Parts: sequence; structure tokens; C-alpha cells
Amino acid sequence: MGIEETEAQARGALDRRSFLKGAAALSGAAALSLGLAGCGPKTAEEAKASAADAMGTFSEEGVATPSFLVPPEPVDEADIVEEVEADVVVVGMGLAGICAARAALEEGASVVCLEKGTEYHLHSHQITAINSAIAKEQGVEFTDEELECVLNRMMADGRDRCNYNLVKHMVYHCGEDFDWYLEKCPDYTVVRAEETAGETKLDYEAILNICTDGLAARAGRHFDDVTPEREEAAKAGAPYLNLFNHPVNPAWDVTDERYPMFASVIAVEPNHSYVGKHSAAYVEEHADVRYAVWAKQLEKDDAGRVTGVLFADEDGTYRRAKAGKGVILATGNFSSNPAMVDYYCRSAAELEPTGWPEVDAKGDVTNTGDGISLAAWAGAAIDRSETMTYVCDSYGGAMGCNPFLLVDGLGARFMNEDVTGEVFGAKSLRVAGKVMWQIFDDSFPDQVANMPVGHRCYWRITEGYDDIPLGHLFDPIGTMTRAEVEKMSQFKADTLEELAEQMGVPADAFVATIERYNELYDLGRDEDFGKRHDRMAPVRTPPFYATAITPPKFRNTVGGVMSDEHVHALDENNLPIAGLYLAGSMVGNRFHGCYPNTNMGQNHAGCIVYGRLAGQNAARGV
Ligand SMILES: Cc1cc2nc3c(=O)[nH]c(=O)nc-3n(C[C@H](O)[C@H](O)[C@H](O)COP(=O)(O)OP(=O)(O)OC[C@H]3O[C@@H](n4cnc5c(N)ncnc54)[C@H](O)[C@@H]3O)c2cc1C
Repeated sequence: MGIEETEAQARGALDRRSFLKGAAALSGAAALSLGLAGCGPKTAEEAKASAADAMGTFSEEGVATPSFLVPPEPVDEADIVEEVEADVVVVGMGLAGICAARAALEEGASVVCLEKGTEYHLHSHQITAINSAIAKEQGVEFTDEELECVLNRMMADGRDRCNYNLVKHMVYHCGEDFDWYLEKCPDYTVVRAEETAGETKLDYEAILNICTDGLAARAGRHFDDVTPEREEAAKAGAPYLNLFNHPVNPAWDVTDERYPMFASVIAVEPNHSYVGKHSAAYVEEHADVRYAVWAKQLEKDDAGRVTGVLFADEDGTYRRAKAGKGVILATGNFSSNPAMVDYYCRSAAELEPTGWPEVDAKGDVTNTGDGISLAAWAGAAIDRSETMTYVCDSYGGAMGCNPFLLVDGLGARFMNEDVTGEVFGAKSLRVAGKVMWQIFDDSFPDQVANMPVGHRCYWRITEGYDDIPLGHLFDPIGTMTRAEVEKMSQFKADTLEELAEQMGVPADAFVATIERYNELYDLGRDEDFGKRHDRMAPVRTPPFYATAITPPKFRNTVGGVMSDEHVHALDENNLPIAGLYLAGSMVGNRFHGCYPNTNMGQNHAGCIVYGRLAGQNAARGV
């Protein structure tokens, strides 16, 4: 690396171009092993454009300002062909924008919505919904003490840097706000989580087939003999609302976990657009919804209040949306903007992106962080929480994220395996050989009995589907069949030496690791890494199994503009900017450093809860 490049890097100005140049210098195999293969721009044109974008400019102090933070030229008044006016202007019609617009309408406000796609965007399944009506009906209710416990853990996850009241609002409102979200949905089927597949009258095989994706597909949880007619009938009963991850392991105590995960999620199958489309229809009916328009700039009055949005259509013709009470930014995350990812969460830049393949009306990807630029140009502070939080979780190995023995590419043990999915993901990039092997023996069905209730953890193995509770069935968690575990195991061997050969790790070191692990089990204490004894599963009974932990993927960023508990955007002094509200994934100040698995579905919950709050506050002038 030359002196200029070293200097540039030291200033934090290593742009996408030099990053890619460095990557190109590596051999294909080396680049692959560094996880660069799937990152960032795919074509030369895209690489050039993103490099130019990342270059930015230097201030006199030598600090780089990326181009996405440089405000555009003001638009000439003569170029603005239309003016629309409403109490509240919502930018973005994803889950957050839809909830914000609906809440503002319900408060009696007039609303304009601006969306650059040709339609709204809704997807995926899991939503944190503590104490939702569905949970309470099934006897799952958190006490005030337990809520405090969740809140304290969430604050500790972010080393208490986040806004306590903002996080508290989420914990205490996610259940009732989920109920509010569901209110508009006329028909749905509530799954009884504790009922087993063998007991239910639901056609669980057909339901599974219409919602099988992700892990269910990998586990082979799909039924070839289900007729199209049965699948159609299953679709007619959708959405299915499932108290995911229930029942919980009776041997599990959430207060006695290194990484507690609270079982507080509702999964909506086949996906939650089945619920969200009804809120979207309400918004489309009652608001002035403009599709295929791009919000370009926020407008402020002399007192610094945000008063509206300048937006452009496909031809670049400008229009003005005046907001009497407030503008709500709900433009989603920035995972498809390589320059922004490089700048705000560089560690994610090396990961393979797996965001939604959504495009705007011009066919360009969404999730480009437009709202972050819009807010920053209007004086908002961007939450630079070291690496801006990104989702980096992993499905683990054949035994999910259960704390079975892990070894690295040299066959050595390296950690207390009793962690959670998002730790697995990030950790796998930091171990020898950048590979983590999950190792277990044929006693695994008995050994899972003390495994935690966690992200992709299994504490029961059955022979068939009939014994699986529905809360574990549709998106596999808690219970797996033996056949599924075997299917997901990459390697199986009758001797440890054979297994080591298949894995490509040094056999001597691997066997020594296993012997030491078994010795620690017999000793009753993990002197090497401090794992609790009831989660030490000795490796003695052949056949032996090995699976590489799935490498982390970069799903989406979570965070953006600094926010207070009223979801006001904050300025550089952390003071509210009048008239500017935030919703959904772009709300900053709620995570710090990681997106923890303390609760699953916090992204969607943030869209519903903060979307609703933004709509109410903007309409009420809070
Ligand atoms: C594979 C995958 C699985 C996931 N699973 C889950 C899960 O199970 N649970 C969970 O909680 N989260 C999950 N997530 C994350 C979750 O999907 C997102 O956090 C959530 O969809 C964000 O919603 P949003 O409304 O904030 O943003 P979006 O849904 O991205 O909506 C933003 C909208 O703003 C529009 N827009 C952007 N810029 C402009 C502009 N300048 N002008 C006009 N319109 C604009 C966009 O077109 C888009 O429609 C998953 C993500 C991925 C990728």
C-alpha cells in the first residue's frame, strides 16, 4: 500500500475503489476465503459509480465528507410544477410508512404518502409482540418484572448508549401495537402453538408447503404428496398467526442465560404482507398516495422547522408536498448503498448481502438510505454507533445455534459455545481458517434436553412430525426430526479421523480437541472455556457429525438518524428538529454495536411501534 493510500485510510477515506482494487489483487481463492465474493457492486459500471460516490470531498481539516452527505443545490422555484398540502407527509410505503400513515389518518390528519416504487413493500414473518392478545389468550403473558428484565437486557445489549425511553416504548407497546396492526385484517387463522401436528385439525402439511422457505427448505420440511387443491385451501386460511418458539423448554430459565432470548415473537405465515396489505389498502383509500415519486429534499422555514418535501417523478419533474404538521421519514435501510455501508458499517461491507430484491419504479434497487441523506441535509445527526448496527445472524449448523462443541479450521476449540445466533455469525469471521465446525455424536437426541430457547436452538428431537408442536413447526425452531438433522449435517463418519479428513482439518489436533472436551465433561467443569456443564455434550458415540456454521450474511442495517423517544429526528446537539419524525429501520439510538437476538422480530416491531408513534405524534403536534 502506498503512502497516499495509507494516509487516506488513516483519515477514514478508504473509498470503495481502493477497496475493490485491493480485492482484485487477491487471487480468486483468497478473495473467496475472505468473503469478498458476493460483496458490493457487481458490474464494472456499478463499481465505478459507487467508487465515485464514496470519494466525497475533504474539508479543510482533511476530514472526508462522502457525497451522500453533501446537500444538493436548491431547486429553482420555477421548476416546481405542483404543490400538494397535507397535515402529514410520509416518505416511504414499507411497513413503517404504512403504519405511520394509518396512525396519522386515524388521528384525523390529512396525509400525503410518497413512494418511489410502483407499489408498497411488505415482506417476511417475525414480529416481536410481547403481551399481544394472541399470546395472552394462549397463556403467555410477561409480568411487569419480566418486562423490566427484557428492557434492562436490551439496554445492556447496547451498553446503555441507546435512548432508554425509546427502547422502553418498544418493549411496553409492541404487543398492543401488533394487535392494532392486526385489527384491520378481516380474516386470519390463529395457530395453537402447543397443539402438536398430530393433534391439529389444520392441514399442517399444506400450510407448511405454502410457507416453506429459509430453514424449513434446508431441513426438507416440505411434503411432495400435498395436492395443489390442498395448498389452495391452505392459502384461503392465511395468514396463519403463530406464537413462534412456544412451548419453551421446561428445563430452561431465561434469567440463567449468558445470552437470554425472550420468546416473544409472532410469526405471520406465509408472510406478513397478508396482514399489512389491509393497512396499506386503508392508507391508499384515505390518503393521497403517490407511487413512482422520489423524495429529493426536505424544506425548512426560517425558524428551522421542516415544512415539506420536494419530490420528483420519473421524468425529473419537481413537485412540493407541504406538511402543516410534520414530515415522517420511513425510507428503510441502506444495505443497497455500498458507499454508505462502507462509511457507516465497514465490517458489513465484506459480507454477502441478502436484502430484499426490491426495486423502485425505474428498476433501481431500493434500500439506498435516501432518508439518511434527506435528514442529514436538513441538519439531522446520523447515529454513528461505532459500526452502525447491521443484522449478521446465522442459522448455525445441523444442530442450529445449540451450544455443541465448535472447532476452527485447525481442529481446535476456541470459545464457550453457549452464545446466540448473531454471535455465531460475527465470530465465524474471526477464527482460524474462517470456519467454525459444529461437532456432535449420535447421542444428540438425548443431549439436546438442556439446550436453550434461543435463535435456532433445538431442545427436542423427534422421529416424525406428529409430535412437533405447531409453535415449532412452520419455521423450524425448538424441535427437529432426526432425519432433518441428518440431512443438514455436512459430514458423518464412524471415526474421528475420518471425520477430520472430510472436514479438511488436521486429524491429530482434532482428535486431541475431542479427547480434551470429553475429559472436561467427565471432570464436571469446563476449565478451558467456562461452558456450563449441562450443555457439554461429549463426543463418543459413533457416527460422528460435522457441519460448518453458515457464514453470516448481511441482511439489512438497523439504525440511521438519531432519534428521541418521540421519534423526533435530532440535530447535531441531540435536540429535536421541529416537524421531522422517523419510523422503521431508519430510527437510530435504539441499538448500539449489534442487533442482538434478545428478541426476534425487532425490525418489524420497530416499523409498527415507531411508525404508529410517528403518525400519532406528527398528527398531534407532539
Ligand atoms: C431476508 C430478510 C429477512 C428478514 N426477516 C425479518 C423478520 O423476520 N423480522 C424482522 O423484524 N425483520 C426482518 N427483516 C428486516 C425487515 O424486513 C426490515 O427491517 C423492514 O422491512 C424495514 O421496513 P421499513 O418500512 O423500515 O423499510 P422498507 O420496507 O425498506 O420501506 C421503505 C420504503 O421507502 C421507499 N423509499 C426509499 N427511499 C425513498 C425516496 N427517496 N422517495 C420515496 N420512497 C422512498 C422504498 O421504496 C420502500 O418502499 C428481514 C430482512 C431481510 C432482508
